[in-house]
Amino acid sequence: MDTQSLKILRAWFKKNAAELPWRPIDLDAPRDPYAVWISETMLQQTQVSTVRDYFVKWMKRFPNVATLAKASEEEVFKYWQGLGYYSRARNILKTAKLIAESGTQKNGTPKNGTQNFPQTRKELEALPGIGAYTAGAILSLANHQREAILDGNLVRIFSRLYALDFLPTDKSSAGKNPSEIYWNYAREMADSPKAYMHNEALMELGRTVCKVRNPECSACPLRAACRAAQEDRTAAFPPAKKHVQKDWHGTVLVIESMDHKILAVHGGQKFFKNQFTLPHFESPRDATAGLPAQAEKYIDADAVQSVESAGKFRHSITIHKMECDVLHIQLNVKAPTRKIPDTRWVSRKDTANFFANSFSLKALEKIH
Ligand code: SF4
Repeated sequence: MDTQSLKILRAWFKKNAAELPWRPIDLDAPRDPYAVWISETMLQQTQVSTVRDYFVKWMKRFPNVATLAKASEEEVFKYWQGLGYYSRARNILKTAKLIAESGTQKNGTPKNGTQNFPQTRKELEALPGIGAYTAGAILSLANHQREAILDGNLVRIFSRLYALDFLPTDKSSAGKNPSEIYWNYAREMADSPKAYMHNEALMELGRTVCKVRNPECSACPLRAACRAAQEDRTAAFPPAKKHVQKDWHGTVLVIESMDHKILAVHGGQKFFKNQFTLPHFESPRDATAGLPAQAEKYIDADAVQSVESAGKFRHSITIHKMECDVLHIQLNVKAPTRKIPDTRWVSRKDTANFFANSFSLKALEKIH
């Protein structure tokens, strides 16, 4: 993008930047990477208006990595409750512990009294829950490094600005790599000492002006540089996602101990590889009732009191159109008290807060 357009974009942002608890009044001031990380993670899939109060309460209770790293998962979930996607909270806690450990000397005191927050994209992206977008946001907004970001807002803006009739998630073909094309535009924006402001201005522009429907082009600082607006084709960009739906039929196991705890598993499943879910597996539509062999991975067949079909539910994950049978397996023993890796017994009343995926919650609804 030409320097004049970038200058207009910065001027627009300085005039229109909303006051937000994670944004300093001085838009040129470097920020606390911890606060950027928390706010950007909360903002993933959640509206700014919702995140405001959560962020303020969170920062009051967990003002830095060191405080957060000492918190229990239970308390962290309490402060996250209502934001959904609990895997984000779980990953935040894991990452805080890793950062705190890396910044602690052998005698347990923090190095130089600092939080030792990672300073490179490579280090950040190696941490749980931090992807290319969040890493770029932390490095550019907090440290003012020339790092690019690309999220849904920026994809929409670039698609319209440059009339890109494909998405970054489209397959590469004929030597064209859609993801790289979008990232190159993002890098171009960030190739400036003002990268932090360009990135944040575009996020704000996407949220308030270049909206999904009915972009307000007459109020847009980039109108003169925007091909979609010039050609009066804003509705054509970005193109709709192509969905090739796949049917999937499976069985979900609700394994309940005598003391009403439900078995949750982490990993080793078809879906939700990085979060706790109910055990599930692909199965034919007319599978016979009875204890499936897959359940014996987790429980002893002698401990089974009953196996009942609890109904069906439908669900969609990415391209999968799913139909699932729910099997309720009740045990005649209490949940084991010793910890087994990658499994957790969750009190039935706590399942709504524990599971971060609606897939598991839909299955649980069938036994309530
Ligand atoms: S001119 Fe319109 S379509 Fe183009 S970037 Fe601005 S708001 Fe979006």
